[in-house]
Amino acid sequence: SAASKSFSTVLLGGGVASGYFAREWIKEGGKGSDLAIISDDTVVAYERPALSKAYLFPEGAARLPGFYTSVGVGGERQDPTWYSSHGIEYLTETAIKSADLKNKTLTTEDGTAISFEKLVIGTGARVTRLEDFKTPGADLEGVYYLRKVADADALLEGIAEAKKKGPDVNIVIVGGGYIGMEVGAGLVKHGVNLTLVFPESRLMERLLTPELAGFYEKYYEGKGVKLIKKDLVTALEGTDGKVTTAVLKSGKRLPVDLVVVGTGARPNVELFKGAVDLLEGPPGGIKVDGRLQTSAPGVFAVGDVAAFKPAFTGELTRQEHVTNARLTGAYVAREILTPGTQPEYDYLPFFYSREFDLSWQFYGQSQGDPVHFGDQSSGKFGAYWIKDGTVVGAFLESGSEEENAAIKKVIQTKAKAPSDLQAQGLAFAASL
Ligand code: FAD
Repeated sequence: SAASKSFSTVLLGGGVASGYFAREWIKEGGKGSDLAIISDDTVVAYERPALSKAYLFPEGAARLPGFYTSVGVGGERQDPTWYSSHGIEYLTETAIKSADLKNKTLTTEDGTAISFEKLVIGTGARVTRLEDFKTPGADLEGVYYLRKVADADALLEGIAEAKKKGPDVNIVIVGGGYIGMEVGAGLVKHGVNLTLVFPESRLMERLLTPELAGFYEKYYEGKGVKLIKKDLVTALEGTDGKVTTAVLKSGKRLPVDLVVVGTGARPNVELFKGAVDLLEGPPGGIKVDGRLQTSAPGVFAVGDVAAFKPAFTGELTRQEHVTNARLTGAYVAREILTPGTQPEYDYLPFFYSREFDLSWQFYGQSQGDPVHFGDQSSGKFGAYWIKDGTVVGAFLESGSEEENAAIKKVIQTKAKAPSDLQAQGLAFAASL
């Protein structure tokens, strides 16, 4: 018989945003027993970025419980006991199959009805799969994606299996964005042959200038990673259901034991089609106002799935970044506890990545004219982007905490570019 449960606030989705929501809820005096979090994952909220970084190392790898939220900001490690000790019901392995916003009820796949007064949608995003591109052979064994702990475990298991058959393990990574780059860096240490295949003319083309990308490309090649640019994996072939060959658009055929796909993500909005206003995709997402409320009263959206308008760009868009997931989660916790008392949500676009012993940060937008600074051979270098005399974007490799804070300030304060910006370089940021 179908069971039912009732909570005053329900957060659907057990991602990064949920962990930071719960943290803020408790910090701000919310009653734990008023809150339920529902997730189809097997574990409570963790710092997802770890999966493409330290999780993949052959030695000294990150493992749960080490990276439950909110360790990413130096906060308490919220393991399952943390939630239960605060009276928060965190339902894992619970997939919601339908949502009825009029009757304020979610229904699980086994028919349990969960009712709420306030709902927070934190369903995040799912990876784009080769099936989505209708790539022949997409369903072969040996094709991996990376979104959840179980995905990372499967990938590492696949490498271990392949190694049993011989020392030469060939891995093709599809995609030259940050996931492809981070996965490449993580897997190099396994002593495997790595090839990144991507259609763009350079790594992270949307963000990096040719000069910046050139540094990372040389660095990767120096580590033995092969880069195949301006080409596409158009088909996979296999034997006995297992992938053996990646066929490229150029006609090249690459022998493979494993394929790792890092070609972006799509927001999980399907449950709410017709019930809340959506942003037509891509990028898609659930439209929210300045208080992160959807078009349905009492229903909020946070993290990767929420489409909002940052003041900096003035464009309705989603931010697939951990900092935004953390901040939106905390924001809506406060909004539900003390409605209307905080300023509207705003976010300065911010990306970062760590690969090998490299580490970069980027603030703003990579639009307009780039001005490069620093000497790449010294390891510390970067770029500003200038639009109508204002510095709108700033990138820095290997910055210290102070230096990263300084380039952030350049963007936050909408600093005017001096004529000798290139000569001043990083000193300009430090001088503000
Ligand atoms: P998610 O973390 O995606 O969580 C959503 C959760 O909801 C999932 O567990 C999902 O299964 C669950 N869910 C969805 N639908 C249902 C349903 N119907 N029923 C039950 N549960 C459901 N960002 C950075 O800024 N820097 C990085 O270095 C970085 N690295 C990353 C590395 C990887 C491998 C990945 C995948 C992402 C990375 N990101 C990074 C992005 C960052 O992790 C995301 O922006 C963040 O996780 C978004 O949090 P979220 O809570 O909105 O959604």
